[in-house]
Amino acid sequence: MDISLVIPLYNEAESLPELCAWISRVVNENNFSHEIILIDDGSNDNSWQVIKELSVQYASIKGIKFQRNYGKSAALNEGFRAAIGNVVITMDADMQDSPDEIPELYKMITKEKFEIVSGWKKKRYDSTIAKNIPSKIFNGVTRKITGIKLHDFNCGLKAYQNKVVKGIEVYGEMHRYIPVIAKWSGFKKVGEKVVEHRARKYGITKFGWERFVNGFLDLLSISFVGKFSKRPMHFFGLWGTLFFLAGISIAIYLIVSKILDSSVSLTNRPGFYLSLTASIIGVQLFLAGFIGELISRNSPGKNSYQIEEKVGL
Ligand code: UDP
Ligand code: MG
Repeated sequence: MDISLVIPLYNEAESLPELCAWISRVVNENNFSHEIILIDDGSNDNSWQVIKELSVQYASIKGIKFQRNYGKSAALNEGFRAAIGNVVITMDADMQDSPDEIPELYKMITKEKFEIVSGWKKKRYDSTIAKNIPSKIFNGVTRKITGIKLHDFNCGLKAYQNKVVKGIEVYGEMHRYIPVIAKWSGFKKVGEKVVEHRARKYGITKFGWERFVNGFLDLLSISFVGKFSKRPMHFFGLWGTLFFLAGISIAIYLIVSKILDSSVSLTNRPGFYLSLTASIIGVQLFLAGFIGELISRNSPGKNSYQIEEKVGL
């Protein structure tokens, strides 16, 4: 199968018929064999009803319905597990992403051999204050921290080689950082394509202000987990040792100066407290690293690495 379209949706009943009609037109014009996987993320409008009706009309439509609203990441993850197409394309259900981009994205994955192609909503039709400006800041920070040169990490329209979506796991609100997660899993050929963005026609946005806090915390855990989850001691052990050494050196200095001049009381000197705190923080960090190391040695995923190639299998 050429293409799996993975579409997470939460209360998008009005958009679905138009969206499916548009997608079908584009993929049929290009003769792509395809499936459209619609993941209903616990909608409380009649999205699921609409999906069931559409699946009668179009043979290519598959639906998954969540018991409750788990979030866009969970929906994507479930779609990724189900996808069988060689190229997997994700798209929002609200028709802000244009299905007309599908053929070009498909070409970039199959011909130009990108592992991921991320859309870039260069001209964006959303509220300037609530979306456009915060998103510029978000993208700038993420670029700096991760070293991945994308303009629009969170674009819903992305294309992947099938092996990429099978090799990553998204949960929480990590859909914002899929290129980052993919990079840590070893997929580095990331491309970018300017895509057409459209104003939301039906319904309202599902992401409010809380996305900033969650997004930032997710970025911290992804960067940390990506770098140190298999070797926590390299982070905690290093800082623990440095702090502990600083504490001990200050203590030695204090003891020596006390011996030389016994008139000053030790506890009256700032260095005393500095030495105390530094030693305690040092031991704490060291222990955190040690415990982290024990946990990571016991975790089932400790030996799951992405294998780029196999021969003779
Ligand atoms: N979505 C979802 N689960 C959620 C929130 C959103 O599946 O809990 C879907 C939503 O239906 C849409 C896509 O994720 O298809 C993007 O959401 P939205 O358009 O609200 O985000 P925005 O474009 O405003 O950033
Ligand atoms: Mg939208």
